[in-house]
Amino acid sequence: AAEPASGKTYQIGTDVTFAPFEFQDANGNFVGIDMDLMEAIAKDQNFKFEIKPLGFNAAVQALESRQVDGVIAGMSITDERKQKFDFSEPYSKSGVVMAVREDQTEVKEYGDLKGKKVAVKTGTEGYTFAQSIASKYGFSIVPFDESIQMYDDVKTGNSIACFDDFPVLAYGMKQKNGLKIVTKMEEGGSYGFAVSKGQNKELLEKFNAGLANLHANGEYERITDKYIGVNA
Ligand code: GLN
Repeated sequence: AAEPASGKTYQIGTDVTFAPFEFQDANGNFVGIDMDLMEAIAKDQNFKFEIKPLGFNAAVQALESRQVDGVIAGMSITDERKQKFDFSEPYSKSGVVMAVREDQTEVKEYGDLKGKKVAVKTGTEGYTFAQSIASKYGFSIVPFDESIQMYDDVKTGNSIACFDDFPVLAYGMKQKNGLKIVTKMEEGGSYGFAVSKGQNKELLEKFNAGLANLHANGEYERITDKYIGVNA
């Protein structure tokens, strides 16, 4: 039998920098919507956890090989991932958009990408989407491990565009990250908390129960408002 949940410290994998969902504040603490949600849910459901900022692809792989108990990383619930992971109820809506450097005026749609390089992040929905249209629009893909590296590649002009999640790029634009979104959001999976398939069922149940309580008591809204509300 599994250890009593109260005694166990769950290891939770996450991305390194995926603001406003996870990022480091000025003191080096991991903050963001995912981090605050996890903390509030653990408090509500009385369990302990430790955050492992592994990077997105590495976190997903660590979950697959069961080196971590769960992943919260702005991770989209997709049919393909459901073969390997069990997901919580969705907690945030998302989808992929294309962004270019803010002073760029030539590239406004996928059709403008012909013969150009496009930066993507390994293991993400943005990567899968870019790959699915690359030959149709005649562009090539440059993969990176971190969103920051992908954005830098666009800013230096090596890649003409990148594909990433709408809420993350929209937050970045607000923080003046030097990029601008040029396309409408593609239909995408909502974010969910993931555990390995058939594993850590009690953790998933606690996450869902805590999430429902946070929605009911206004805490969910307080957390999202803190990062993406009108006064954020
Ligand atoms: N939502 C995207 C995905 O699940 C990207 C996640 C991320 O980069 N942290 O693939």
